[in-house]
Amino acid sequence: MITIKSKEEIDFLRKGGKRLGAILKMVAERVSPGISTRALDEFAHSLITKNSDIPSFLNYQPHGADRPYPATTCLSINEEIIHGIPNEDEKILKEGDIVGIDIGLIHEGVFLDSAITVGVGEIDESAKKLIRATREALEAGIKAARGGGNVGDIGHAIETLVKGSGFSLADGLSGHGVGRAVHEDPYVPNMGRKGEGPLLKPGMVLAIEPMLNEGTSKIKLLKDGYTYVTADGTRSAHFEHTVVITEGAPIVVTRI
Ligand code: MG
Ligand code: MG
Repeated sequence: MITIKSKEEIDFLRKGGKRLGAILKMVAERVSPGISTRALDEFAHSLITKNSDIPSFLNYQPHGADRPYPATTCLSINEEIIHGIPNEDEKILKEGDIVGIDIGLIHEGVFLDSAITVGVGEIDESAKKLIRATREALEAGIKAARGGGNVGDIGHAIETLVKGSGFSLADGLSGHGVGRAVHEDPYVPNMGRKGEGPLLKPGMVLAIEPMLNEGTSKIKLLKDGYTYVTADGTRSAHFEHTVVITEGAPIVVTRI
């Protein structure tokens, strides 16, 4: 079921979104060669709970998962597309890596979701291009998310931008409704046709999140049950904002 959020919920989404945007920025600033993803995760946890908000990914059990998600953040390095699990021992960032930082929080009962991808130290030109194209794909999707349109308009805009970029969209992974839960209806695919899919109505809240791969669009799920990686081992980037649909341009609540 697609829900329409109240004015009060939208006010809380605006406040919580600013907080999440600021937290993502602070976590990104801490990214450097030698730091573990677990340390970044603990930092994010402290920033969220210090404000009396709640990490929404921690202990969340998605449909089909056999155990709850064990961390506050998803930190996805290089070929990891999304849902990389922070780990003290195995996951130490090194110069030249790229890392997707995806965080969800609950503020006054409303759920926010946002992600960015950043380089660790100096990164190569292809990685810079991949990150830039993914950010542009998100902006194209946001621009297409207007009341009176359809969910397919968003995917169409993202897909059109990615076609000219030389990169591919990760197969089968999509955005989603958000606001009253981590994941809600509708699915927000990163490809589609204009005028298709559910109608966009003011008060709907969506997480728009393109994921671009350097090589193949094919993906694999690792044995941990959460981490999606590119099938060919090339790198992947991810950007995400939570947006509120209005009559005109959407409110990008997680933008700071
Ligand atoms: Mg997310
Ligand atoms: Mg999401």
